Amino acid sequence: MEETKILLDENEIPKKWYNIQADLPTPLDPYLNPATKEPVGPEDLAPIFPMELIKQEVSTERWIPIPDEVRDIYRLWRPTPLYRALRLEKALKTPAKIYYKWEGVSPPGSHKPNTAVAQAYYNMKEGVERITTETGAGQWGSALAFGTCLFDLDCTIYMVRISYEQKPYRRVLMETWGAEVFPSPSQRTNAGRKILEKDPETTGSLGIAISEAVEDAATHDDTKYSLGSVLNHVLLHQTVVGLEVKKQFEIAEEYPDVMFGCVGGGSNFSGACFPFVGDKLRGERPDLQVISCEPTACPTLTKGLYKYDFGDTAMLTPLLLMYTLGHDFVPAPIHAGGLRYHGDAPLLCKLTNEGVMGAVAYHQNEVFEAALTFARAEGIVVAPETAHCVKATIDEARRCKETGEEKTIFFANSGHGHFDLAAYDAYLAGKLVDYEYPAELIKRALANLPKV
Ligand SMILES: *Cc1c(COP(=O)(O)O)cnc(C)c1O
Repeated sequence: MEETKILLDENEIPKKWYNIQADLPTPLDPYLNPATKEPVGPEDLAPIFPMELIKQEVSTERWIPIPDEVRDIYRLWRPTPLYRALRLEKALKTPAKIYYKWEGVSPPGSHKPNTAVAQAYYNMKEGVERITTETGAGQWGSALAFGTCLFDLDCTIYMVRISYEQKPYRRVLMETWGAEVFPSPSQRTNAGRKILEKDPETTGSLGIAISEAVEDAATHDDTKYSLGSVLNHVLLHQTVVGLEVKKQFEIAEEYPDVMFGCVGGGSNFSGACFPFVGDKLRGERPDLQVISCEPTACPTLTKGLYKYDFGDTAMLTPLLLMYTLGHDFVPAPIHAGGLRYHGDAPLLCKLTNEGVMGAVAYHQNEVFEAALTFARAEGIVVAPETAHCVKATIDEARRCKETGEEKTIFFANSGHGHFDLAAYDAYLAGKLVDYEYPAELIKRALANLPKV
């Protein structure tokens, strides 16, 4: 009988993270200081990040050791299972084989603690007492609250106001792990006060919340800031996922033909696919297809420009070369809160720009339809973010049915949707609206890009 789950022992949790910067044909373009347009150096980042993470950010070493203390905490939920979706294959009557890596088994319910725990550890090691961050729907905030709790650090979270009001349960989870949570924009920072003055009724955005969390860290000596996606060190930590997948595929005597993942900032998918993309870059797997899945309402990779832009709305961060919809882009209120960021990880963007990786965009109704098909075959109710790559997987499996191809399809199952049942409710009630981000609005937001 074919196995449903491919499992690893605890001692097979990877001992090193994989750094794809070692295998890039040309180096990643530097982050730029917005005032001077010169590359930022470690001293520019030191007020907001611990030195070890700054080193990881620019490292070109292929392998970076995972500290024992971090591996020890990973053991609470890692290694995670690689599933063969036999029941979904049957439901779709496809000759394709479908595999997914299930990150929903972590305590906060997603891949995010893979980096939250590592970041909390390095901050603790360097004597930091408090970490600030932003959160949209609350996935990242709850992961960092969990990570800081395990290393006895204080945690301050700026939560996008609309989610703070509409999604109280993630806030309760953050508070359960000991974090303090404020709706953003708040009166606690200059960035927040300025925006509230202009628009007291604003529902907030991830960009604004980032501005507040960065300012809080930069203005307090014992405090640093933490980002849950986008940056190189975050993607690095997430490769623990893909390295496990590699071992699991070896056990199954398989190698994927096509890999799908949802992309908000790019961390879960990069973590899952980079060890395989490395094979492709080294010429060992030239035919591997690696496809990012995003919403049509926030079509960063499929409709954005590959340009230097700020990471936040208040223009406080360095400039990153990435696909962007413009730092003042305000996304439509779709239910995949984690996929509403205006940019994406520079590493993933570079690989996309160079044609190593591809991208597709979907509307939210078709995405939820796919999530239901998946839930009714495999049982798991995925996060609305994850549902985007479930849609891509199901489409590919159906294509294989047409052509008779026995492809091996992989998707990164980044988390569960147990806190997103209001979104499922809206879909089931036929109340979900599809948004195509209007071309002229994209053009307008892109007109405000910094001149480099
Ligand atoms: C945050 C989140 C995402 C999007 O973030 P990435 O950095 O692109 O991974 C995707 N899925 C889940 C379940 C999330 O919580």
